[in-house]
Amino acid sequence: MIETAKQENVQELVENLNFKEKVDRSLLLIEEAYKRFGDSLVVANSLGKDSVAVWHLAKQVNRNIRGFIITTRFKPTDTVQFMHKQIAKYPELKIYENREWILPNLYETDPDLCCDILKVKPTRRAIEEMDVKCWVTGLRCTEGRTRVDFQEVEERDYGLIKLNPILIWQEREVWQYLALNQVDVNPLYAEGYRSLGCAPCTNITADPNERAGRWIGTGKCGGECGIHTRPLRV
Ligand code: SF4
Repeated sequence: MIETAKQENVQELVENLNFKEKVDRSLLLIEEAYKRFGDSLVVANSLGKDSVAVWHLAKQVNRNIRGFIITTRFKPTDTVQFMHKQIAKYPELKIYENREWILPNLYETDPDLCCDILKVKPTRRAIEEMDVKCWVTGLRCTEGRTRVDFQEVEERDYGLIKLNPILIWQEREVWQYLALNQVDVNPLYAEGYRSLGCAPCTNITADPNERAGRWIGTGKCGGECGIHTRPLRV
């Protein structure tokens, strides 16, 4: 399945599989990848709803699967508190943070550079230090305009497989899974946020686009921080 998933018609899967079939497919993808990569399969956990769903799925496959969290100096207090709760529950989650000096308002003047320094760089470090051969993400193709062209299994960086096991899930199916499995989520969702990032770059909106509240007022609006688009092995 890992091999065929590289070429599947993602949109057809989104529309034609039911919730249970999607969950089973996600579990199978993680299971197969774990058989192949063992301990060098690692989950990237952003502490958002999609990540905690993927983390829960991975734990169904094998409770020893490790993960990493990329945090920044700009994460909302609620997210930081949620992170500490997750770490207390899952000590196999490792935190990475880049504390190098940057202009305090870099997120306004050059958000791409800010994300590159505070998010992409520590992701590269996590991948190198944890000896990752397959990283597992909570990316979904229905989240917004920048996420439609991904596959469930990718090799954007040579020798580094990226597995997106819930790529074909709809937002509703993520909440369905979390509710049915009573998974704890970041309390910011109760405030109305639908996609979470750093405090200065995350807003609540009524826009149908799930990521519309990210980087409002910049050319990056509704876009990407770079960990899914920039090379991770340099
Ligand atoms: S989301 Fe905003 S504050 Fe966070 S790293 Fe990116 S630009 Fe900087």
